Amino acid sequence: MSLLAKFSDLAVQREALADADPSKVVIDEILSPTEAMINGRHTILAGTNNYLGLTFDPDCIAAGQKALAQMGTGTTGSRMANGNYSGHRALERELAEFYGYPYAMVFSTGYAANLGVLSALLGPDDAVLLDADAHASLYDGAAMTQAGIYRFKHNDPDSLDKRLSRLKDRAARTLVVIEGLYSVLGDTAPMQEFVEVKDRHDALLMVDEAHSLGVYGEHGRGLVESSATQDQVDFVVGTFSKSLASTGGFCVSRHQELELFQYASRPYMFTASPCPSVIATTRAALNALRKRPELKAQLWRNAEHLYNALKAKNFRLGPELSPVVAIRLEDRGLALNAWQRLLESGVYCNLMLPPAAPEGGSVLRFSLSAAHTETQVDTLIERISALGLE
Ligand code: PMP
Repeated sequence: MSLLAKFSDLAVQREALADADPSKVVIDEILSPTEAMINGRHTILAGTNNYLGLTFDPDCIAAGQKALAQMGTGTTGSRMANGNYSGHRALERELAEFYGYPYAMVFSTGYAANLGVLSALLGPDDAVLLDADAHASLYDGAAMTQAGIYRFKHNDPDSLDKRLSRLKDRAARTLVVIEGLYSVLGDTAPMQEFVEVKDRHDALLMVDEAHSLGVYGEHGRGLVESSATQDQVDFVVGTFSKSLASTGGFCVSRHQELELFQYASRPYMFTASPCPSVIATTRAALNALRKRPELKAQLWRNAEHLYNALKAKNFRLGPELSPVVAIRLEDRGLALNAWQRLLESGVYCNLMLPPAAPEGGSVLRFSLSAAHTETQVDTLIERISALGLE
C-alpha cells in the first residue's frame, strides 16, 4: 500500500459531507467583527472566538499600521536568532504585569506555546496527566516528550486524585494539564478542587486559558483570577487569537525557570517570531482589555441573552452559562443539516461532529462577542428556533 492510499478513506468521508463541510466555508469579505459575506450572502458571524470584538478596533489597527511602516512586514527569523525585537520583550513585560506573575514568554501561536511549554518541562522520567477534553495542542505537546502520558475524566478532581495516587513517587514529577473555559461545551474547570488535589500530591499545574482570557475574572485574567487560584497555579498558557484578536501565544508563571525554557523549547527556537504589526495590535488589544471593562460586561450580556433564550425554548445546551453556547444533538446527520441550513439563512456557527464533540454526540457551537448587537442576538435566536430542533 502506498503512503497515499490512506487518503482514499478521507476522500470518501469528504464526499459524504458534500456542501455541509465547514472547511469549505470561505469568507469572501469581512465587514465587521460580527458580519461577513459568505457565498454572496450577508452573514452574522457567531463562531469566531472574537470575544471582545477587537478585530476592527481603531487603536489596534493604528498600532499595527504604525509598526508595519516602522518595523517592516516580518522578522524573518526566530526569537533565538534575529527575530527578537523590543516589542516582543515589551509584550512579555506587559503580560507578566497584567497577570501579576513575574515571568512571561511569547510564542508564535497558542499551539506553539502549548508544544513549547510541555516539551520544555517534560522528560523521560516525568509524567503528564491531561483532562480527557483538553485541546489537541496539549496532547500534541505531551506526545513530543518521552514522559508517561495519562488522562483523567473531564473536570473530575477525584479521577485526577486516583491517577496521581497510582503514580506514587512519580506524582511529584507530574504535570497536570487542564483548560479554564472548555471551548466545545462552554464549561469551566473546578479550579479550587484541582489545585487542592495537585498540591496534596506535590504535582505542578498548567492551565490553558485560551478561551478565558478577557472573559473571566474582575480584570479579565481568566479562571485563575475568578477562582482566586493564581498563587497556586504553576503555568498559565494562552493565545492572542481569541480575545486579543491577532495571532500568537504566551506562557506566564510564578517560576523563574520559565526564563530558561527558551533553551529547552524547540517550538520556541525553531520558528519565526510574530510579525511586529501582530505584536503591536496584540499590545493595543491587551491595553483595551485592561482599560475597557465594558467590553467584558457586554460580552456577558450577549451570552446571557442567547443562552437563556435557547434554554427557555428547551434546547439541550452545555452545563453552564458562558460566552460559548453549545446546542447538543444526538444525531450527526441532524447536526450537519442544521449547520448547513443556518449558514443558508445567514448565520455562521461551528459544527463539531464525533469524535470532536464529547460523548459521541454532535454540537452546534456559538461563540458570542462584545461586538454583537442585541438585534443580531435576537436574529440568531429567531433563525436557530426556525430549525425546529428543540
Ligand atoms: N488552546 C486552546 C484551548 C485552543 O482552543 C486553541 C485554539 N483553538 C489553542 C490552544 C491554539 O491557539 P492558536 O490558535 O493561537 O494556535
